[in-house]
Amino acid sequence: MIRGALVSVLTLVFTILAIAGVYSGHMRYSLKPEQIADGVYVFWGQQEPLTWENGGNIANTGFIVGNNSVLVLDTGPTQLYAEEMIAAIRTVTNLPIRHAIVTHHHPDHAFGIQSFKKNNTNVYMHPDSRSLLAKEGPILLGFLETLIGTNWITGTKIDRPTHLIRTERSIDVGGRIIKILPFANGHTPGDLVVYDQETRTLFAGDLVFHGRAATVPHANISIWLHHLDVLIELGWDTLVPGHGPIVTDQIPFEELRSYLYFLEQTATESVARGDTLAETLQTEIPAPFNQLATVKAEFQRSITSLFRKLEAEDFEASLPVY
Ligand SMILES: [Zn+2]
Repeated sequence: MIRGALVSVLTLVFTILAIAGVYSGHMRYSLKPEQIADGVYVFWGQQEPLTWENGGNIANTGFIVGNNSVLVLDTGPTQLYAEEMIAAIRTVTNLPIRHAIVTHHHPDHAFGIQSFKKNNTNVYMHPDSRSLLAKEGPILLGFLETLIGTNWITGTKIDRPTHLIRTERSIDVGGRIIKILPFANGHTPGDLVVYDQETRTLFAGDLVFHGRAATVPHANISIWLHHLDVLIELGWDTLVPGHGPIVTDQIPFEELRSYLYFLEQTATESVARGDTLAETLQTEIPAPFNQLATVKAEFQRSITSLFRKLEAEDFEASLPVY
């Protein structure tokens, strides 16, 4: 009883201290790398929406250590996050961080680019992701600031990659070959995945969400579903999803597939019936999808974007052709 009360008091004190820290501008992500295979490390993101408490730390990032250099997977949501990543990598190795692969242009993956460039790291993206980052980056940065607050994003600027990857490519980090594979028009127009042959580890970016509602504003769902079939066949033992815990079998793929089908079907049937968007947003989210992290907010966002795309297609199809 006394112990329970003590724990409650301590929890309250720590919460107040954490909030005070956020308000006073002493922001820290406290990133700690977890080794998941020989020379392969992950910084796990929170299964939460973007909030001022988590500072946008919602995606998984990581790094692979070779004999002469380090390759980084995604750059995180802010300059501060990327700087903490670099500092945390330095606790593991002093080898140069020579390469950073940005899996796609979404803020939680791509907004730390400038810190890696300052560190003389080559930064790679798919050309279509580079274009979207340039086009939408400033607006997305504004949204991010609204959601996580100004303190976290201080100093964060939208930057561009130094290299583009359009077709499959290998990077040698010293006695270790890392394959970079493009997957166009799935989760976004230009996703990259990273495969470490030595440990059979695949970093799948946001082509795989695990235990969290997938986001689809830039997605082509039918091509994404096809990409999932290809990803399964790549021959990995361990897969790091863009969001959620480690994957070692195909069960998360089934979960993701059925959720994507559900989204597409809900939007398509509603438009075909002539329902309004407001009516469609009232759809009850069935089990097991109602258990996915962030599903309430993501369902609204996803249905809104799918609905608008379908309505635009309907409108175009009704126009006379000359
Ligand atoms: Zn994404």
